[in-house]
Amino acid sequence: MPTALVTGITGQDGAYLSQFLLDKGYRVVGLMRRSASADVIGERLRWLGIIDRVELADGDLLDLSSLIRVIEACRPDEVYHLAAQSFVATSWHQPVLTGTITGVGTVNMLEAVRIARPEARFYQASSSEMFGNSEEPRQNERTPFHPRSPYAAAKVYAHWMTVNYRESFGLHAAAGILFNHESPLRGIEFVTRRIADGAARVKLGLASTLMLGNLEARRDWGHARDYVRAMWLMLQQDTPEEYVVATGQARSVRDVCRRAFDHVGLDYQEHVIVRPELHRPAEVSALEGDAAKARERLGWQPEIGFEAMIAEMVEADLARHRARMRG
Ligand code: NDP
Ligand code: GDP
Repeated sequence: MPTALVTGITGQDGAYLSQFLLDKGYRVVGLMRRSASADVIGERLRWLGIIDRVELADGDLLDLSSLIRVIEACRPDEVYHLAAQSFVATSWHQPVLTGTITGVGTVNMLEAVRIARPEARFYQASSSEMFGNSEEPRQNERTPFHPRSPYAAAKVYAHWMTVNYRESFGLHAAAGILFNHESPLRGIEFVTRRIADGAARVKLGLASTLMLGNLEARRDWGHARDYVRAMWLMLQQDTPEEYVVATGQARSVRDVCRRAFDHVGLDYQEHVIVRPELHRPAEVSALEGDAAKARERLGWQPEIGFEAMIAEMVEADLARHRARMRG
């Protein structure tokens, strides 16, 4: 039975990836940082019904010795490095923390693997945010990076350090440049989840409005369940490389509002209010990915469409609020 170590196991992707790997027969060990709210933090794993099937190991990206200890103890065949301060808006308020966790934290993981388990395969969670406002209408593996937030800058550093450890030390280190991917387990501060939750609240009479920032921003939104499969496929290749993972179709924040409110029979224009303070200091106006390489080399393609995904998210938030109202 192969062993996978997943950092960021309590996050959206960590939860779906763990479920995917368990179904494939892996032993899954998750790095989990100590928290006074550990019971709540396991919520996503509980939601998927897998919390009792994964092993949780105590460690923090900022503490290299804890990472080495965890790797020595579980001896992983594959390491999926997903942990990060992953929210762009917060990265302007906490730029040093974001650089430390998302950037230097990745180097700590690479060091831990190099020292304790150099034969393990390593996956780095790189991001389409690294492209910034690209001049190319669709971004692929050859598109230059121009990060537009402390988060994106930290990811560029982590990305190049991953390539660097491959070229310097021969680590089997791959990087997925994933475009935005969502699900009912997406963090509540991200725009699709805010909208799904907002539409559910308005429908149930818990709120009458939803405050948002830039409705014209465009993103290439896919489903997390599809995207974790691409991570695994990358580590099954003999040669570690970079891959863009995207649907190839961008939509606006306004499109998400329309879809989510339509789903509950409401008109978003009567409920969504644009607030200037929710605009970002530097916006990435549009991202749309060209995943031809992943399609051709990995045989990967997305299976869950945009409309089905938004419907699933709104339904999940309706169910969550109904359960709270009953309880
Ligand atoms: P989440 O924000 O949902 O999860 C982040 C995870 O990192 C959590 O498990 C969190 O733990 C953990 N973490 C944060 N800081 C530390 C630390 N110091 N030590 C140990 N663990 C830590 O992210 P997603 O699942 O959405 O994304 C996974 C990865 O993919 C991230 O690196 C993200 O930047 C990247 N990415 C995501 C995209 C997306 O659209 N979702 C697109 C492209 C890249 P805790 O629960 O304790 O906070
Ligand atoms: P990101 O692409 O990783 O930053 O993912 P987000 O879901 O946080 O943001 C996607 C886009 O939605 C960005 O261009 C935001 O500016 C835009 N957006 C508009 N209103 C909001 C909002 O209220 N919250 C968030 N998170 N994003 C918003």
